[in-house]
Amino acid sequence: MKTIIEPFKIKMVEPLKMTTREQRLAIMKEAGYNPFNIRGEDVLIDLLTDSGTGSMSHAQWAEMMMGDESYAGARSFYKFEAAVKEITGMQHVIPTHQGRASERILFSILGSPDMVVPSNTHFDTTRANIEFTGARAVDLIDPRGLDPHYKAPFKGNMDTDALDALIREVGPERIPVCMITVTNNASGGQPVSMANIRKVREITAKHGIPLFIDACRFAENAYFIKQREEGYADKDLKAIAREMFSYADGATFSAKKDGLANIGGFLAINNDELAVKARNLLILTEGFPTYGGLAGRDLGAIAQGLKEVLDEDYMRYRIRSTEYLGENLIKGGVPIFEPPGGHAIYIDAKGFLPHIPASQFPGQALVGALYIEGGIRAVEIGSVMFGRWEGETFIPAKNELVRLAIPRRVYTQSHIDYVIEVVLEVFKHRDQVKGLKIVKDAPYLRHFTALFAEV
Ligand SMILES: *Cc1c(COP(=O)(O)O)cnc(C)c1O
Repeated sequence: MKTIIEPFKIKMVEPLKMTTREQRLAIMKEAGYNPFNIRGEDVLIDLLTDSGTGSMSHAQWAEMMMGDESYAGARSFYKFEAAVKEITGMQHVIPTHQGRASERILFSILGSPDMVVPSNTHFDTTRANIEFTGARAVDLIDPRGLDPHYKAPFKGNMDTDALDALIREVGPERIPVCMITVTNNASGGQPVSMANIRKVREITAKHGIPLFIDACRFAENAYFIKQREEGYADKDLKAIAREMFSYADGATFSAKKDGLANIGGFLAINNDELAVKARNLLILTEGFPTYGGLAGRDLGAIAQGLKEVLDEDYMRYRIRSTEYLGENLIKGGVPIFEPPGGHAIYIDAKGFLPHIPASQFPGQALVGALYIEGGIRAVEIGSVMFGRWEGETFIPAKNELVRLAIPRRVYTQSHIDYVIEVVLEVFKHRDQVKGLKIVKDAPYLRHFTALFAEV
């Protein structure tokens, strides 16, 4: 088979600033070994997140120029609404400034202290918005999905027996909505099968519980279904996406992922009464229902992005470039969360740096080493994010991972080859990487603000 090339050519460039190892060492020390404290300019290859970091196409930029900035009833809104309806088939499309705004609106209506909201795995903003209402957010991932080395085609699936058991335990009246996240971002970017979505639908429908899809990466999930699930090889991505949404009563979405835009989101709902309540809340904090916190030009760019993301040539390149990075790291002996996910590769820092105990944050130490070695910015998803102290005892996270998230249509194969070289170089000298200690802690969301120093 021939190389799968980037299915686009480049007509605008943004120069990268080259730095020396010495400069990067000084920058990392100054940043307290926290990649969130580094200026974007000082990063060579930025794999911190795939959220809002993608490149727009010429057609999207044309939509920006054609944006209708009318306060009410803008032409750009109707384009946006039509694009979302064409994919989701939902009755009501409510634009928001990003995914978490749609979550906040949904759970402000449905959440309260007695309620329980299950998901395969809640993303952190979803969990936070549920817990903010006093409700309990429950992850029902198949337990094997947490094992970095367990290989399965749909490792993001919900454990449907556990869902059944939860409904029996708390009662359907205490479950105002069930979520399913596609792909499962917080569990390695792993896909969810159509069969699993259908089964979750069956169970929730039996009890009258609405099902909402956290659809941030719906197109990547559709492509995995096409590649891996029997009966879908000949279907186009839009048909697969439509079938996924046909099992749901609504969806939350961040256009910063599979919207191929730099900002935006939506809440899609079938139920008329719920939609009225959502629009009333929208007006309080986001804006009038035909713009919802976005400029007309953004709505136009998202409408166009939603068409492009379902193009199979794009998606083949997208999934292949992530897989290519994963494959080459495995070949070099680097332990990663397998199989490669859709939008990111997660390095298993516990296996990479076995000499560093969890209490010295091997993931964060590896993030530091990758930046110093090659100017690559990654993010820790391990004990910095989830570890905690119980008295004198440190309770580590289940896994110590370092996420390399791939922005959409931004980097070429030679950039990815460079990333592979840098990771393998650090791997060769891994015994020289030192553990870290916290020198300034933060009470909430420590990973954004804590400062570290080498032990
Ligand atoms: C990014 C993300 C969100 C939140 O979207 P924002 O646009 O960042 O607010 C919710 N769920 C998942 C799965 C995500 O990846």
